[in-house]
Amino acid sequence: MTKILTAHFDESKLHELETYRRLGGYEALKKAREMAPAAVQDEVKKSNLRGLGGAGFPTGGKWSTVPPVEKAPERFVVVNCDESEPGCFKDRVLVHRAPHQLIEGLLIACHAISAKRGFIFIRGEYRVQYRVLEKALAEAKAAGLCGEVQLELMRGAGAYISGLDTALLETMEGKKAWPRQPPPFPTVAGLMGKPTVVNNVETLSMLPHIVKNGGEWFAKIGVLPNPEKKIPGSGGTAVYSVSGDVEKPGVYEFPMGTPLRAILEAAGGMRGGKALKCVIPGGASTPPLTAAELDIHMDFDSVRAAGSFLGAGGVIFLDETRDMAEIAHNIERFLSHESCGQCTPCREGSEWTVRILDRVLEGKGHQNDLPNLQRIGENITGKVICALGDTVGMVTRAYITKFPDDFKKRVPNNG
Ligand code: SF4
Repeated sequence: MTKILTAHFDESKLHELETYRRLGGYEALKKAREMAPAAVQDEVKKSNLRGLGGAGFPTGGKWSTVPPVEKAPERFVVVNCDESEPGCFKDRVLVHRAPHQLIEGLLIACHAISAKRGFIFIRGEYRVQYRVLEKALAEAKAAGLCGEVQLELMRGAGAYISGLDTALLETMEGKKAWPRQPPPFPTVAGLMGKPTVVNNVETLSMLPHIVKNGGEWFAKIGVLPNPEKKIPGSGGTAVYSVSGDVEKPGVYEFPMGTPLRAILEAAGGMRGGKALKCVIPGGASTPPLTAAELDIHMDFDSVRAAGSFLGAGGVIFLDETRDMAEIAHNIERFLSHESCGQCTPCREGSEWTVRILDRVLEGKGHQNDLPNLQRIGENITGKVICALGDTVGMVTRAYITKFPDDFKKRVPNNG
């Protein structure tokens, strides 16, 4: 099993600078600084690293949309450590166990886009991890590793929507976490209107390994592009937060393209030998898969082709005793609560979705409730500013489609 980010997780003091350096830490930063920024960007493009926070956008491609230094000398790199998706906890573990891996990646990204300031935005609830990062940053600064780059740590205030890059930037500016309507995208006008690269913890933690071993090495570990089939591929590995009804929930790292079945096996299989009913592949807000889809390959393109998303790698396995109407209701209630209210279809549609599901769950559903849930969903997805709204419109529709019996049994005349 190829491991990159978690390869040294058996080292008890990996969070300390001394241990990290003994294992070769910060050598990649030295190497990157001997390269031109454009050469580092090229290596990352070759690696086929895609954003592991959920969007799956090619990291090197994103960086290359930052305007030239002559046009915009001030630019920033922001680490998105606002991990709030239910079912996702791998960033918390990566920060806790290997903070210097992230800091080294952040410094490499700053060099690659010629930024002199970098920020780590961490969710407010991650108090222990905040302290771990605070200590690691102090160590890196004291050791002179940051050079001219000024690094700062900032805490969020607990809004799920702050995990979305533009809402995160609003929060950093001291405003309400309302996602921005692009364009412009953050790489052109981000924090305080300056070009800003926002990358997730896992994405940035990959950079020292790419610089050290080369982009081609990284690309070959994952799924190579297939131009004939117009498949862009995904380089390297992904770290999964595995939870639900499995014997050994936890954090597991696998090469991109690993079958979902192998992840279940690594997690010890279904708890108590029960049968698998549903897998949520990328965190609670991603559409579910059925037990019959256990052989799909876990990479951005394969999961999308199966009608869901790799998301942030929060894999939730649910057994035969679970009721999918209850699961959909639970997720929609969460999303409705976290909707920022800026777009009418998301604000109103999420509320109506929950109200109808309340009724269906009580066994008092109307005959038109299931078609209405479909129709409400269709009127949200694609008609809102951000991915939260798209998700609100997708979740219930996907559960009704994949697990119709759990809904129909609650609606008189089968809705
Ligand atoms: Fe806010 Fe929902 Fe609109 Fe996103 S889609 S900006 S969460 S109202």
